[in-house]
Amino acid sequence: MNFKQIAQTCKEDDIIVCYNIIQTILKERQANRAMSVIANLIKDSRKIVVKIGSNTLSGENGMVNREAMQNIVEQLHELMQSGKQIIIVSSGAGVCGIAAINKWHRKNDINYKQALCAIGQVELMMTYKELFAEYDIHVAQMLLTRDDFGDHTRNIHIRNALFTLVDEGVVPVVNENDSVCVEEIKIGDNDTLSALTANLWGADLLIILSDIDGVYDKNPKTSKDAELIEEVYDIDGLLSEIDARGKSHFGTGGVITKISAAEKVNEYGIPLILANGSKKDILRKLVNGTERGTVFFGK
Ligand code: ADP
Repeated sequence: MNFKQIAQTCKEDDIIVCYNIIQTILKERQANRAMSVIANLIKDSRKIVVKIGSNTLSGENGMVNREAMQNIVEQLHELMQSGKQIIIVSSGAGVCGIAAINKWHRKNDINYKQALCAIGQVELMMTYKELFAEYDIHVAQMLLTRDDFGDHTRNIHIRNALFTLVDEGVVPVVNENDSVCVEEIKIGDNDTLSALTANLWGADLLIILSDIDGVYDKNPKTSKDAELIEEVYDIDGLLSEIDARGKSHFGTGGVITKISAAEKVNEYGIPLILANGSKKDILRKLVNGTERGTVFFGK
């Protein structure tokens, strides 16, 4: 007997149960396939830019989450031991500044914001320095602005400095030079900065760690039934499909800047993985094929 003949002998209720089971199995298979795509992508990449968002670096109380940073550094070290080269693009200077000085967090004044970033950048780098020192690895700070990427000579110097550092086993930690940037000359968000860095260095892969598993059809923070989109080949198609509320509400940051970062790197043939940096051991799990994310392959 074939499936159709068996189904014809079954009760309607049993067919519905069966249908649901098959749907679940198919979804699981699809998820497993997507996870192994991510695992293989990381395994096949040598030069990896990892962008760490401020949500990943700060705890629920808005203070720096040292434990989370330690966990990420531990995993980056493991990747380096397996032959990968790593550049970090790290947010978190503002959060670190508030944690260090414990005042001004309510001030909206740009001078105070820039002052906090200037203070926090030192704290941020000190934390990376201490955590990487556990493995005898040096870190180097690169503070960049939009102008640096627009100028050919500076481009070459940044590129050469990055190559030299990485070749010597040092981990560059890139951030926007917030305390010298005014709105008009800002890159504005570290998703874009990480994409520009990946393109300049000629990375094989960009991984953006945020506080969500990837891009959903609608904002997962406000819609419980939001579904994760695991593989993206057509960004324009994606933008027309995902919930517009997610887009307009987070129009100046959020998931939109991650998608436009994907657009930028995909143009140069570099894939981007968006994954949840607030999950412990996220990089290990991605490498083992046991954690989900969104991969942008480009056209
Ligand atoms: P980070 O500080 O890590 O860069 P952001 O807060 O800028 O992260 O962006 C991630 C946020 O984007 C998520 O927490 C989520 O609330 C929001 N978001 C809005 N729409 C979507 C969507 N369709 N898919 C995923 N996230 C979305």
